[in-house]
Amino acid sequence: GSSSDILQIKDLSKTYTGTIRPAVDRICVGVLPGECFGLLGVNGAGKTTTFKMLTGDIDVTSGEAVVTGYSILTNILDVHQNMGYCPQFDAIDDLLTGREHLHLYARLRGVPESEISRVAEWGIQKLGLFEYAGCTAGTYSGGNKRKLSTAIAMIDCPALLLLDEPTTGMDPHSRRFLWNSITSVIQGGRAVVLTSHSMEECEALCTRLAIMVNGTFKCLGTIQHLKYKFGDGYVVTMKI
Ligand code: ATP
Repeated sequence: GSSSDILQIKDLSKTYTGTIRPAVDRICVGVLPGECFGLLGVNGAGKTTTFKMLTGDIDVTSGEAVVTGYSILTNILDVHQNMGYCPQFDAIDDLLTGREHLHLYARLRGVPESEISRVAEWGIQKLGLFEYAGCTAGTYSGGNKRKLSTAIAMIDCPALLLLDEPTTGMDPHSRRFLWNSITSVIQGGRAVVLTSHSMEECEALCTRLAIMVNGTFKCLGTIQHLKYKFGDGYVVTMKI
C-alpha cells in the first residue's frame, strides 16, 4: 500500500464469536483514486464480512484498514465521513419517498441545509429515479430499491464507495444505467469496492478484482491477468 491509497487493507481478519474458522483471513489490498476493486466469490466467501469490518458494523479480530488516512480501529467517525455504503439488503423505509430518503441522508451526512435539495436532485438524476422520486419506497421494484440504496451511498460524494451487490434484482437496462453512474463516480477520482456474482459486471467496472475463497484472496489482479493465469475458464476454475 501507498499513502495515496484511498483504502488500505492490511492483514484484515475476522473470526466470529463461537466459530473456529476465520470468515475473513488476513486479506491485504490497496485501492487508489479512480479504481474500482471487485470482490467476487460464492455465498459465504467473506465479502459482506469484509464490508462490515470496513464500516465498523462488526469488530475486527486482527489486522487493520485505513480509509483516506483514518484507521477503522481508532477513527471510525472520520472513516464514515469519507465512505458511502450500499448494504446487501436495502435499509430503506417503505413509508418515505425516494426524495425524502435523499433529503434525510444528506442531512445526516452533514450536507449544509442550503445544499440539500440540490444534492438530492443530483442523486435522483444520477440513478435515473426521476419518475419515482415522489413515490413511497414501499411501491418500488427491487431494482429501484437498489438504485435508491446506491444513491444514498453516493449522496455527499464520499472518497470511498462500498457497494454490496448493487445490481441484484435489476433488469439489463437498469444495470447498464447503474454501471454508467458508478463509472462516472470513479472517473471523478473516487474509489469503489464492489461485490458481485456477475463476471460481466466485473468486466464492465473493475480495474482489478480478487476472487475470495474461504475468507482469503485466492487471486488478485486485472481481468486480463486472471484470464491469462487461469484461461477463459477461470471463473469455472474458481467455482463461481
Ligand atoms: P454472500 O454472497 O452470501 O453475501 P459473503 O461472501 O458475503 O456471502 P459472508 O456473509 O461474509 O459471505 O460470510 C462469510 C462466512 O462467515 C460464512 O461462513 C458465514 O456463515 C459466516 N458468518 C457470517 N455472519 C456470521 C455471524 N454473525 N456469526 C457467525 N458466522 C457468520
